[in-house]
Amino acid sequence: MFESLKTSIIERARKKNLIEIETINIRDFSKNSYNQVDDTPYGGGAGMVMMPDIVADSIKFAKTKSPDAKVIYLTPQGKVLNQKKIVELSKEHDLILLCGHYEGIDERVIEKYVDEEISIGDYVLTGGEIPAMCLVDGVSRYVEGVLSKESIVEESFSTDTLLEYPQYTKPYEFEGMKVPEILISGNHQKIDEWRQDQRLITTYNKRKDLLDETQRNLAKKIIKKYKD
Ligand code: SAM
Repeated sequence: MFESLKTSIIERARKKNLIEIETINIRDFSKNSYNQVDDTPYGGGAGMVMMPDIVADSIKFAKTKSPDAKVIYLTPQGKVLNQKKIVELSKEHDLILLCGHYEGIDERVIEKYVDEEISIGDYVLTGGEIPAMCLVDGVSRYVEGVLSKESIVEESFSTDTLLEYPQYTKPYEFEGMKVPEILISGNHQKIDEWRQDQRLITTYNKRKDLLDETQRNLAKKIIKKYKD
């Protein structure tokens, strides 16, 4: 699954040695010839649970490579990932990301070895690999040199809770719709003002929950200004 991280921006960052990603297969730590890593849950119930000794051995192995790394377990029970957390994690030198499967991981490993539990949203996936890849992708963008500083600063959630302004590219006219005139005016101050207004309008239209009362009232005024 992690092969998909070997593309595009993340792959370029790896090639430039800005980031390093190593995958460890928990099955390699199985204690029997049929590579068992899970067993039935104590107390009964559906599904299988990943065994504590095997998961612990794989974490200990990862720690031999990165002794000071924070261990993060990707789980729907964790705190939901957001941009603030991504920026915080980008300041860590190493991270160990633990991916569960089946019904999850024996609670005792989580208690003893996991520093933090992170979820990518309030829904359940079959495994932690896609959540781990979300985290790797999001965090890598904040590692110095991976992206230009401007592209990070101007984005949704970057400096405040507002979403980004709408973006347009060529052709100037697409299916009868033209690019807003202001963007071809060459007046950078006016373009900046328009973009700031559009950030508020976009957030108001798409994610009102991100705005406080004052911002909502301001957004209504700005929307009216553009209609008049
Ligand atoms: N039984 C667990 C529960 O109800 O909390 C769910 C287990 S889930 C089917 C299997 C694995 O997928 C988890 O151990 C976790 O690593 C991963 N996973 C599923 N949904 C996730 C989410 N929203 N965020 C992060 N990891 C998730």
